[in-house]
Amino acid sequence: MEMMADPAGRDDMDARGWNTFYEGTVQIPGYGKRPDRCRDYTPVGFCEDGHVHLGQSSCQTRFCPSHWRDWTERAVVKIVERLAAYRQVQPMGPQKRLSHVVVSPPQDDRYSARAMYKTRTDAYDALRDAGVRGGSIVTHPFRVNEDGKHLCRTLRQQGEFEENTGDWRILREVTDGFDELEEYITAEPHYHCLAAAEDIDSAAAPDDWIVERIRTFSAFHPRDSEAYEDMARTAYYLLTHGAVGSYLNGDSELVTGTTTTYFGEVHPNAFNPSEELTTALWDRIQREAEAAVGVSVEDEKDGDGGQAECPRDDCEALLRPLEDLDSYLSDVRQYEGWFRSLDFEQQCEIWGLWTWLGDTPPPGRATEPPGEEDGEKRHDLPPGGLDRTPDKPTGAVGDKQRVLTWVRRLGRKRLHQKPGYEPPEDARA
Ligand SMILES: [Zn+2]
Ligand SMILES: [Zn+2]
Repeated sequence: MEMMADPAGRDDMDARGWNTFYEGTVQIPGYGKRPDRCRDYTPVGFCEDGHVHLGQSSCQTRFCPSHWRDWTERAVVKIVERLAAYRQVQPMGPQKRLSHVVVSPPQDDRYSARAMYKTRTDAYDALRDAGVRGGSIVTHPFRVNEDGKHLCRTLRQQGEFEENTGDWRILREVTDGFDELEEYITAEPHYHCLAAAEDIDSAAAPDDWIVERIRTFSAFHPRDSEAYEDMARTAYYLLTHGAVGSYLNGDSELVTGTTTTYFGEVHPNAFNPSEELTTALWDRIQREAEAAVGVSVEDEKDGDGGQAECPRDDCEALLRPLEDLDSYLSDVRQYEGWFRSLDFEQQCEIWGLWTWLGDTPPPGRATEPPGEEDGEKRHDLPPGGLDRTPDKPTGAVGDKQRVLTWVRRLGRKRLHQKPGYEPPEDARA
């Protein structure tokens, strides 16, 4: 992208100061190291042009570049269900009210990672002074700087993004890695609160602190999904750029900071939904929260809501779930129908997928070499009508391309062994 072709040099960054005062230990979700356990690839589907679609099982951690959204989703469900339960037990009227409030500590200080997390406790006090009884807090280490705001504005004006797309979503999408993102943000800790309060008295905040109400959430009713979705949308967006970091505490131990916390009347020590609500109502609230998060996640990810397309370059064919493979291959006994229409390479890929879903261990995972005899028998049976459920394939270790190459090779070998199989024209070229 044009505007990022001239990144500020490292020296520039350090001269600005902020890059060093979190000691490089604070980021936002999705920019850390991927844990080992989520590196395995498993097939998750295929496209109508015969491309195998691979996915990785989620580690559900904040750090993981592939799975931070799963962590976010779960965290939002927790926030929404707790706030909903709390609102439910309040008397009718303004006590059910929930507001989005931002608390900013004095910005003349430079904050270390440790100070950022510790100052959160002072933020609770500032909120109490302003009339907040309790709430859920998301700590934000950064704000979008002038360059970032300018870039987002420009991209919206150019129609690259919808008018209402948040800055953080745009910046994450158009930058490549945290180093590049850093050019558009400034270290400036502040705390977002989904705050239970009848009114916010900003003037009551301590000196040099700013307590500001952004808006009031939709009125709450336990069976009104809009009330849940309203909370979920805000919580989700806030968490996408919440603090992910660690710091040395007073005893020089490395502590991992939490992204979300609760305080006051909403804190788990003060409020336990399963004690305050009937089981039926608490279940209902939890289900509503989960459904609402699903809806807002889809909104956040992609607006079009259409059917998913193949992620392969230059392919726009529709993606199908693995469950559909059986019916797509139902004509395969005569190598007719859909399978016949595929290019040779794609026939190999699909046949390899089918074999993999049988039980051939993928590379890096073979605990013992598959008994050829045994394997042959199972894999050479035509799929139509056979009772094989491709739900628990073994994960493959390695990079994606290597796994796909393996799938294709496996399929090619098995296809050529099949009696009556005629490779299509392009295979003989
Ligand atoms: Zn992961
Ligand atoms: Zn495709």
